[in-house]
Amino acid sequence: MEIKCFPVGAFRVNTYLVKDEETGQCAIIDTGESDELVERLQALQPAPDIRMILLTHAHLDHAGGLKQLQQFFDVPTYLPRLEQALFETLPKQGDWFGAPHMNRPCGRIDNWLDDGDVIDLGETQLHFISTPGHTPGQGCYYDEHDIFVGDTLFAGSVGRTDLPMGDSRLMKDSLHKLTTLPERLRVHSGHGPVTTLAKEYETNPFLQFLR
Ligand SMILES: [Zn+2]
Repeated sequence: MEIKCFPVGAFRVNTYLVKDEETGQCAIIDTGESDELVERLQALQPAPDIRMILLTHAHLDHAGGLKQLQQFFDVPTYLPRLEQALFETLPKQGDWFGAPHMNRPCGRIDNWLDDGDVIDLGETQLHFISTPGHTPGQGCYYDEHDIFVGDTLFAGSVGRTDLPMGDSRLMKDSLHKLTTLPERLRVHSGHGPVTTLAKEYETNPFLQFLR
């Protein structure tokens, strides 16, 4: 896969454009909460062949721009099934941060994902693994080289669990579950730089309980 990262919006959330090199088919991963991703994608030459939108979780910085994005890229959209209740709070999530101007409409979800589901992007198979904790249904997408983890894991840190519907016990289980995946995987987080699972197991202070 070819991967481009676009940090966008007020939260500088990492959104991704991933391309299956065999067919040129692309997926967008996460949206930001503004129209910035639309602008970044429209500026690309040649225009990417965007076939789907994948969401890691339903926080406004990751899913709040969905409706706008779908006006320009009207493609099948995937969200973890366990995120449905949180997704429906998008019109009031801004209030949680004292920022009602950040309240966003819900876009359209076409496919609800369950743990173990596989998505075909051209010749690339993207596996979905459910890693709840940061949110009730937060999940990750991975192939044999890369994993997109949303706010499950960061270089040197992990996602917070103190927001509404967060759960620190589930988070621990989910971080443990990630150890079933190959350590070589490059980790593309919702915020911050690229890392690898191996590096995080070695150095991330929040993963000390796994060592
Ligand atoms: Zn989040």
